[in-house]
Amino acid sequence: MSLAFSSLCGHFILLCFSLLLILRPGQAYEGLSDETLKALPRPSQEFDIHNGAILSPILQTRVPGTPGHDAVLDHLVNYIRTTVPNWELELQNSTSETPLSRGKEVPFVNIIAYRDPPGAPVGDIERLTLVAHYDSKLTPEGFIGAIDSAAPCAMIMHAMRTIDAALEKKWAAMREKGTDPAFEEERGIQVLFLDGEEAFEEWTNTDSLYGARSLAETWDQEMNPAMSTFKTKLSSISLFVLLDLLGSKSPNIMSFYQTTHWAYQNMGNLEQRLRSLGQFKSSSTDPWFIDTSKNSQQVVSRGGIQDDHIPFLARGVDILHIIDFAPFKGFSPVWHTMDDDAEHLDMDTVQDWTMLITAFTAEWMELEGFLGHSETVKARRDEDLVEEAIRLNKKTEL
Ligand SMILES: [Zn+2]
Repeated sequence: MSLAFSSLCGHFILLCFSLLLILRPGQAYEGLSDETLKALPRPSQEFDIHNGAILSPILQTRVPGTPGHDAVLDHLVNYIRTTVPNWELELQNSTSETPLSRGKEVPFVNIIAYRDPPGAPVGDIERLTLVAHYDSKLTPEGFIGAIDSAAPCAMIMHAMRTIDAALEKKWAAMREKGTDPAFEEERGIQVLFLDGEEAFEEWTNTDSLYGARSLAETWDQEMNPAMSTFKTKLSSISLFVLLDLLGSKSPNIMSFYQTTHWAYQNMGNLEQRLRSLGQFKSSSTDPWFIDTSKNSQQVVSRGGIQDDHIPFLARGVDILHIIDFAPFKGFSPVWHTMDDDAEHLDMDTVQDWTMLITAFTAEWMELEGFLGHSETVKARRDEDLVEEAIRLNKKTEL
């Protein structure tokens, strides 16, 4: 081998290696265009706290084992069945004693919904996993838990519908080009509405995270079919995005893990882009994602916040924890008080969060070009007209 050829060879190998780095699955990240970000559908009437179809049914007490809990469970299940009927829906049941159940077993029901490319072999798909808990805390009596976590559930519900429509378009376009999404697409999406996050008495390792502990343990043991790319359902999770305590004005979101800091930065960048494109209604002088400019080495894992991610983190799942918390302020002032109700939600912020979660998910699923610009723009124009009419009507009444 001549020196010149060897050097050419070296360059070629370096080029291949660089391409491999760029094309690593899960991290191939094609940005959304400004046009797409500007046309993202915004929730409006369906997030009305009194009679909106998505959010208002969740804004009630929903303690495991009570009728309110079952009503919210039905609402979530019905939404999935009717709005995204092509998603697989599973309920994972478990029971546990609690410090207050006097030896009786309390039922917990996790809701699992996922959508894989049609025909794709189970076990070969990795799923972006959006997570929020739907139970509410027993005390104080009558506690609603609007940011904890009724609003995060609603954000995910809205995102599911938008993403599902775009996925259908993307897969249809692939088929038209003669490629089969069953073999050419390895990305799926999954939603977990977890039960029993809250402690009944006082937060301990056993009085908390009832649903998450049961699901993480089950999925760690359930094997996918032999020869699958991913051995267990747990290892099929590409990223576990946990939303909690979202819906108060001017949130602060920290980056907790070095390994997922790049995903945190992607969401932070989307926040800034949506804001600079005028797509955010909430006014906030400071960015929500306060650690975006840090590099991953500067991210210090505080290991502190106990939440539904813990049993998954302990088993090696990559976590992106989106929770309104910062050392200089703690949690939102309404946290675990009677003030965490519908009236204390900042609805502009709730809607903005929904846009951001949808944008992040669409980017992850590589949906640029499939988000239906013209229809969305028209729908938004119609919604704006209706809102304007309502506003004018209210003014007349006053
Ligand atoms: Zn809570």
